[in-house]
Amino acid sequence: MKILVPVKRVVDYNVKVRVKADQSGVELANVKMAMNPFDEIAIEEAVRLKEAGVASEVVAVSCGVPACQETLRAALAIGADRAVLVTSVVELQPLAVAKILKAIVEKEAPSLVILGKQAIDDDANQVGQMLAALLDWPQATFASKVEASDGQVRVTREIDGGLETLAMPLPAVITTDLRLNEPRYATLPNIMKAKKKPLETVAGESLGVDLAPRLTTLKVVEPPSRKAGILVADVAQLVDKLKNEAQVL
Ligand code: AMP
Repeated sequence: MKILVPVKRVVDYNVKVRVKADQSGVELANVKMAMNPFDEIAIEEAVRLKEAGVASEVVAVSCGVPACQETLRAALAIGADRAVLVTSVVELQPLAVAKILKAIVEKEAPSLVILGKQAIDDDANQVGQMLAALLDWPQATFASKVEASDGQVRVTREIDGGLETLAMPLPAVITTDLRLNEPRYATLPNIMKAKKKPLETVAGESLGVDLAPRLTTLKVVEPPSRKAGILVADVAQLVDKLKNEAQVL
C-alpha cells in the first residue's frame, strides 16, 4: 500500500507573525519557515504504518516555491521514501492545491492520502475535503487514531463532545488532528540519508489543471490587543466590578 502525504511549507509556529505595513499579508522576508505541524503528524503516521508493515511506500509532496524542497527533505528525514515537488509561478490557493494533488494521485495511485487538517498559515481547512470530493473518495477528517488493514481503514475522529469511529474502503483521504501521534525528531544520520533520497520536480503548469487564484485578500490586520488585567482587593470588589463595570452579573 502506497501512502501520499502532502506537506506545506509555512511560517514556523514559534515565530511571532507580523502584518505587513500595507495590510496585504504577513511579513515573510527573513522569517523562519518549517513544515506545517499537522503535516509532520501526517508523515509520522504514514511512516508508522510503513514500520508496522501495513504500508510499502511513503511519498511526500509539496506544492509551491522551490524552497519547499527543504520541507520535503524534512519529510524524508522523518522516514518518507521519496518526494515530489510541484512548482508554480502563481500563488497556490487551496482549490489549486487540491487539483494538483488530484493529478499527482492519478499518477502515483496511492491507497491512502494523509494530509494535515489545516495549514497554520491561512487556516483554510479545505484541501483534504476538496481533494476527497475531486477524487470522489471517502474521507475522514480530524483523525486521532488510524488503523489500516487489507482494503479498509478505521479512523477515530475528534468531534464535539466525543469521538467517532468510521470505517472506509480504500482508497481514501484522511486529515490529521493534533492528538494522532507525536512526531519523532529527525536524527542526524536520517537527515544525512534524506539528502540522498529521490526528489522529483514537476512544473505545476505541466499538469493541465487550472491553478488560477479565485480569492482576493482584501486586508490582513492584527487582532485587537488585549487590555491588561487588574488585581482586586477582595471578593466584594470583584462582584461590584462584574456587576457595574463589566455588567456580566
Ligand atoms: P489547508 O486546507 O490549506 O488548511 O491545508 C490542509 C492540508 O493540505 C495541509 O495540512 C497539507 O497537508 C495540505 N496542503 C495545503 N497546501 C499545501 C501545499 N502548498 N503543498 C502541499 N500540501 C498542502
